[in-house]
Amino acid sequence: MDPKKGIAVPPPVVSVIEKLRSCGHTAFIAGGAVRDIVMNRQRPVDWDIATSATPIEVASCFDHVVPTGLVHGTVTVVAGDMNIEVTTYRHDGPYVDGRRPEYVEYLDDIVADLARRDFTVNAMAFDPTAGELVDPYGGADDIERRLIRCVGDPAQRFSEDKLRMLRAVRFAATLGFDVDASIVDSARKLAPGIEQVSVERIMDELMKTMCAPKPGAALMLMEEMGLTSYLLPELCSEVGEKERKGLYAACDLLSPEPEERFAALLWPLGSQGSRRMLARMRTSRAFATAVSRIIEGATDLDDDPSDYQLRLAASRIGRDHLLPAVRLKQALRGDGERMLANMTVVEEKVRSVLAERPPLGISDLHVGGKEIMEATGLSPGPGVRMVLQRLLHEALRDPSVNNKECLLDMAREIGDEMGKAFAD
Ligand code: ATP
Ligand code: MG
Repeated sequence: MDPKKGIAVPPPVVSVIEKLRSCGHTAFIAGGAVRDIVMNRQRPVDWDIATSATPIEVASCFDHVVPTGLVHGTVTVVAGDMNIEVTTYRHDGPYVDGRRPEYVEYLDDIVADLARRDFTVNAMAFDPTAGELVDPYGGADDIERRLIRCVGDPAQRFSEDKLRMLRAVRFAATLGFDVDASIVDSARKLAPGIEQVSVERIMDELMKTMCAPKPGAALMLMEEMGLTSYLLPELCSEVGEKERKGLYAACDLLSPEPEERFAALLWPLGSQGSRRMLARMRTSRAFATAVSRIIEGATDLDDDPSDYQLRLAASRIGRDHLLPAVRLKQALRGDGERMLANMTVVEEKVRSVLAERPPLGISDLHVGGKEIMEATGLSPGPGVRMVLQRLLHEALRDPSVNNKECLLDMAREIGDEMGKAFAD
C-alpha cells in the first residue's frame, strides 16, 4: 500500500499544488482521492486540494478560477482539462441545527483541517511531489483492517451532523468495509435526528449506497442502526423487518443500476406508492417513473413469461424497462441458485425478443391513421385509434402480421365489426 506506486496523480493536480507552494502556501490532495490512492482502488473522479491559502489568495495565484463555494472556502481552479476544487484548511464552528456549522474558520494547518473530516479513511492528505502521506488518525491502518471509524467520538460527530450516520453506511457499502461497533452504538441513540437532514442530502447518500456492488449488508446495517424507520417510513409501515430483509437480499442480485435496485427496495409499495415516496424524496420525475414502471412490469409478469407476455410488458412499460422488470421478478423469488440460473435464461429470452424489434406502440405499426380510414371508410375520430389499438394488440401477439397487407385486411374486419356493433 505505497501511495507513490499505483494510481498516478494527474499533472494538472500536481501543477496546482506546486503553484500554490511557489506562492508561499502549503497544499495537499485531501479527502476521497487520497483514500482511493492508498487503496489503489479506482481512479478518483474528484481531486480535491486543501491549502493554507485563503480563497482570495487562491484566486490571485491562478488565471482561471470560479468562486463555487465561497461559504465553505472553496474555489474551483480550471487547470488543463480539469476543474479542481481548492478548499482552504478550515475548522467548523459550532453545529446548532445538527446539519451544518454556524460558520467556518480558516486555518493554516493541514492536520487541523483533517480533524473536521468524518471518517479516518477520509481524513488523510497526500503530497504528490514528496510522495508523503499525512495520516494523523490512522486512516491507512483502517483501510488495511477494512474498517470505517470516526475521527473522534462518534456520538459527538453524529450530533454535529446527523448525515454522518448514513455516510458511514454509504462508505461501508461502497468500500465493502465493516463499521466500528462504536458507530453502530452511537447511531442507535441518535437515529431519530436523521430527520433534521434535508431529503436531498439523504437521497444523495442513499443513491450511492444503492449503487454499491452489494447494498444488502448496508441496508441491514441501516436497520441495525435504527435508521430505516426514519429513512423509509412508507416501507416500514407496509412490511415487517423479515420481509424487508428479503428485499435487501434481492437488491444484491440485481445490476447496480439505481432504478432497478430502488424498484426491489420499494416493491411492497407498488408502482403508485413508490412514485409517491420518491416524489417525497425529491428524486427526478424520470427516476421515479422508471422505478414505478419496473415495479409495474414485474407485477404483471409470470416467473417464466412467454414471448407474448414479454412484448406486452415492453409495450406497457417501455422497452428499456423490460430487462430490469424481468430481473426484479426473478430476484424476488429468492430461491438461490435455481433462481439465478433461471434469471440468465429469462434475460436471454428478453434480449432475443427485443432483438427482433417487435412493434411495441401504434407508431411502430406499418400502417397509419390515413390508410385505416381509406380501408374502413371510418371518418377521423376515436374509432380510428381504436382500430390501431386492436391492430397493435394483434401485432404484439404475432409480430409477423405487422405488414401493410395483413394489417389492412384486419382493419377491414375490425371496421366491419365496429360498424355492425354500432348498427345493432
Ligand atoms: P466519493 O469518492 O464517493 O465522492 P468522497 O470521500 O470524496 O467520496 P465526498 O462526499 O465527496 O466523499 O466528500 C469529500 C470529503 O469531504 C470526504 O472525504 C470527507 O473528508 C469530507 N466530508 C464530506 N462530507 C462530510 C461530512 N458530512 N462531515 C465531515 N466530513 C465530510
Ligand atoms: Mg467526492
